[in-house]
Amino acid sequence: MTNYPTLEIPETLACGPGPGNTDPRVLDSFARAGVADHMQPDVLRGMVESKFMLREIFGTKNTYTYGVGGTGFSGLDCALSAILPGDKVVAFVNGTFSGIDGLTIRMKASTREELAAAPLNPQPESVEIIDVPHGQSVTGEIVEAALAEHKPMWAFMAHWETGSGRINDIQGFNDACEKHGCLGIVDAVSSLGIEDFNIDDYPAVVAWASCPQKGVLCLPLTYAPVSFTDKYIGIVSTRGCYTYVHNPILEARHWGIVDGKDVEAGGYHRTHSGYAVAAFHEALRITLAHGRAQKAADYAYHEKALRQAIEAMGCNVTSNMTSLVVFDLPGEFAGREKELVGACRADGFGIWPTLSEPTQIRIGILNQLTIDAINDIVGRFVDAMLRMGVEIDKAAIMNDLNGYYAEQSVAA
Ligand SMILES: *Cc1c(COP(=O)(O)O)cnc(C)c1O
Repeated sequence: MTNYPTLEIPETLACGPGPGNTDPRVLDSFARAGVADHMQPDVLRGMVESKFMLREIFGTKNTYTYGVGGTGFSGLDCALSAILPGDKVVAFVNGTFSGIDGLTIRMKASTREELAAAPLNPQPESVEIIDVPHGQSVTGEIVEAALAEHKPMWAFMAHWETGSGRINDIQGFNDACEKHGCLGIVDAVSSLGIEDFNIDDYPAVVAWASCPQKGVLCLPLTYAPVSFTDKYIGIVSTRGCYTYVHNPILEARHWGIVDGKDVEAGGYHRTHSGYAVAAFHEALRITLAHGRAQKAADYAYHEKALRQAIEAMGCNVTSNMTSLVVFDLPGEFAGREKELVGACRADGFGIWPTLSEPTQIRIGILNQLTIDAINDIVGRFVDAMLRMGVEIDKAAIMNDLNGYYAEQSVAA
């Protein structure tokens, strides 16, 4: 038998669409948690407190607001689990992640015959995928036209599509759902904890799912925040769904939500981890202490600094999210995006290419909301561009960056 040495994972600068660099306070909470089982009173109390904090972060009175153990797609699997075979669904896809959500929806809505015909990529008749080109947003007009034509039971959209860095029109989506009597489901993986919004302002959206490691800044594989309206829970309670572990009603029990009401302490659903609960609880505390509005303003402020620096290097920015800059290299270097990203990653500077065509570069600023951090990111990227042979003046770019910050601080 091979006796492998202890796994050592180096420190890197995570500057992609996610995960963000975890706050040291979150890591500390994770590591300091005592050995305790999933029914120990402080673990249960931590889950109940987290549930209350999540309602503030989501801006909701929904009782069914809690965390689904796992990653963003675990929360989405839970939120999409009310879709049953044969249900009519319209899903809007404008990048990698909404594309995967669209696949999940097609799997869930397929009949047995449709699933057997293409088990890993079914094409059920009841699902309409509306493809919006990479780099463009889903607009209210696109949603309105599709819902008017297809009149589905469910409509799905990503709030912020991280694959292409685009913000989609959540107000337009809500209004079209309301007008056509559709039940909205939204992937809020990249917007929760970054944008300042209240989900209760979009009442036609009945299910929301986010993730642990982007705006919420916890660790991957802890908890994916979800929130469901009573209407959604009513549908699940009358029709059922084909999952125990991601059942939106059963998964809520451990968080102290039973029969539509908060109870003092949760009951067993599956074995939760005291470490994960401690880390998640701390991440939520940090977000609330920062303040949703302040955090959103800080992202916009630093994204603008990074965007201007990237543009000053001759790149074309096509994103409009405030946590991520997505761009094309200057014309003569087009096609070398993966090479450049690979060189940065080999240096512990974790940026990303887009995963769907066309290939672009993505640099994220999750939990990098300081002038020093943005200087570090811009400096590393300039160095990588110079090594590839792009003719840019590092001193001028760094100077402009600090000019932006100086100007902004005078204005403030
Ligand atoms: C990151 C992301 C996901 C997937 O989250 P995981 O934590 O990797 O499962 C889904 N949707 C969007 C919009 C995302 O940005």
